[in-house]
Amino acid sequence: MRGLEGYCLGIESTADDFGVGIASFDGEILANVNDVYVPERGGIHPREASRHHTIVAGRVIAEALNRAGLKPREISVIAFSQGPGLGPCLRVGATAARALAAYLNKPLVGVNHCVAHIEIGKMVSGARDPVTLYVSGGNTIVAAFEARRYRVFGETLDIAVGNCLDVFAREAGLRPRADKPLGAIVEELASRGKSFIQLPYTVKGMDLSFSGLLTAAINLLREGKYPLEDICFSFQETAFSMLTEVTERALAHTEKPEVLLTGGVAANKRLQDMLRVMCEEHGARFCVVPKEYATDNGAMIAWTGVLCYKHGLTIPIERSHVKLKWRLDEVEVPWVEQ
Ligand code: AMP
Ligand code: MG
Repeated sequence: MRGLEGYCLGIESTADDFGVGIASFDGEILANVNDVYVPERGGIHPREASRHHTIVAGRVIAEALNRAGLKPREISVIAFSQGPGLGPCLRVGATAARALAAYLNKPLVGVNHCVAHIEIGKMVSGARDPVTLYVSGGNTIVAAFEARRYRVFGETLDIAVGNCLDVFAREAGLRPRADKPLGAIVEELASRGKSFIQLPYTVKGMDLSFSGLLTAAINLLREGKYPLEDICFSFQETAFSMLTEVTERALAHTEKPEVLLTGGVAANKRLQDMLRVMCEEHGARFCVVPKEYATDNGAMIAWTGVLCYKHGLTIPIERSHVKLKWRLDEVEVPWVEQ
């Protein structure tokens, strides 16, 4: 294990967010600056998002250093999100990180984005050994630590739950804002829903499938028979019950003491409530990551960069290529003890 003095600057750019965080080696987050790409219409276009990242990168890095009150030379390690994610977006963050590491002559760390969501969640919520439900625009995973890795107990077989919510919301004619993502708009409408409409509920063992639910919900929209609030309500109840069922099964199987909810969809109060009740029934502690650290962010990359660096997991620039399909369970996490 390496010494305890220093700071890591972490860059996140797997999808629509370009984020830069700075963490001290003892776990203080000194800066967490984010700039999100909001498409004019439709979903995230990788090329357009990467252009956005290219434009904002310099400013976001400078702003993070400013907030932390640090000069570039005071940074000891540079970390970046190496995957999984969208290739063009990942490459912008990787290029910026390589340039900084080479110019400042500092070590480089490639961080797995999914591991980072778990590590920041543990750090900010105080969870020690949780079953994690990680739900975002690009991922839907139930994982827990076992034998040196975060093992995937369940995952989506098709689309991520956040993406499912977003596609549905766009079909309903809703528009996102930088301060109000589509999932939050659906949540607001759902809170005013009154009648539940049956929709496809697809859990296969520990895995989930959302495409049938999405198609059925879009068909309901097109039928024009039901209020949008009722469709949003039914859609959420169905999707979140599926997530809660799979998390409950992983909890019962692993007998872990805690559940950690993270990822952009973790902001949803209804999902939080369902999981909280389930945890109470199992005598498990429910931990949820605050919004700032739940959605994609640079702080989680910086903090996981610290953990990697302390265990010697740096990479030379020649081996710093991005890994678009880098799975959570491929990564060894030597800092977790069991
Ligand atoms: P991320 O991929 O972690 O950056 O998170 C973005 C995803 O979180 C998008 O799919 C959003 O629609 C979703 N999201 C954000 N806020 C909420 C919310 N309150 N309820 C459900 N989904 C949300
Ligand atoms: Mg995002």
